[in-house]
Amino acid sequence: MTIPVVWSPETRRHEPMREVWVGVPTEGTEVPARVDRILEALRAHDAVEATPHDDDVLTRVHDPAYVEHLRTIHAEWIAGPYDQLVGQDRVVPYVFPTPAMTQGMTPTQAAATHGRAGAFCYDTMTLVGPGTWEAARAAVDCALTAVDLVTSRRSSGVETRAAYALCRPPGHHVTSQGYGGSCYLNNAAVAAQALLDASHGRVAVVDLDAHHGNGTQAIFWERDDVRYGSLHVDPAAGWFPHYFGHATETGAGAGEGATRNLPLAEGTGDGPWLEGVRDLAAFAGGADALVVSLGVDAAADDPESPLQVTADGYAAAGALLGSLGLPTVAVQEGGYHLDTIGGLVAAYLDGHDHPAAG
Ligand SMILES: [Zn+2]
Repeated sequence: MTIPVVWSPETRRHEPMREVWVGVPTEGTEVPARVDRILEALRAHDAVEATPHDDDVLTRVHDPAYVEHLRTIHAEWIAGPYDQLVGQDRVVPYVFPTPAMTQGMTPTQAAATHGRAGAFCYDTMTLVGPGTWEAARAAVDCALTAVDLVTSRRSSGVETRAAYALCRPPGHHVTSQGYGGSCYLNNAAVAAQALLDASHGRVAVVDLDAHHGNGTQAIFWERDDVRYGSLHVDPAAGWFPHYFGHATETGAGAGEGATRNLPLAEGTGDGPWLEGVRDLAAFAGGADALVVSLGVDAAADDPESPLQVTADGYAAAGALLGSLGLPTVAVQEGGYHLDTIGGLVAAYLDGHDHPAAG
């Protein structure tokens, strides 16, 4: 039996069209075709369509005010003058109430939609369009349905040990307060919280995406019930998310020691990358359940990162994490090279399913 694939046609509805990077509109790479390329490569797996879940877990991971903002902001934008006036049908913030502006004071909510657009957002490259909310919310349902599969016995009486959630858009850059990094809702954090609720034990999140999952780290920063370990290109070498992802960040308060970051040099390939995966597998080993933030943008062909991991590397990573024998939900994060993305995901899942072969 192969690892089931949980997906939703709704996840195709988000069309980034463009990102605004250093002030310049560039073509978005987090495109709906990613869903179809991955589905094609996973034809041999059981496909399970996601079932709707309520907002209970979602609003414990994210501030309810943020969730409501994301749900409504595009309709407000379209009701405003922006499309007619400047031809902008995507929500693009231009002012951000960061500490640079607020200096400890509590800001009053902006009256204008274009003012409010930056209230729960931290970059200019993550635009909200028609269908963004529907796709992001469906991705959360994919993650929660995958959790259902590994925590409840199916009618056959056989418990699925691992499930894969084909989440799009990805989520690991989203904090409890807002979005960025082409992510809108933190699917991995939702999965971790739901696994925690189901098993009443401890959960580990291992993040294999090429970029640091600053959002997931932030959400669990002060908690000791969810460990977060990440392997990514070094932000000190100039890579997104720039401000977080350094080895010195280990958590705070009750969460001190529950965060582990392994930044890697540009050009890192399978050998040192798998050493890092081995380290994070040990870090996750004491948990009762595992979430894998399965970004495949660490692969050599990917346009968004300088890491040089191969499909064999991803298969070996799957074998290392699969050998933990934990109930596991693998959540799709990044991966932008359309010709190889599906094969990379398939390689990881095959490795995870056959740990002895690794
Ligand atoms: Zn990434």
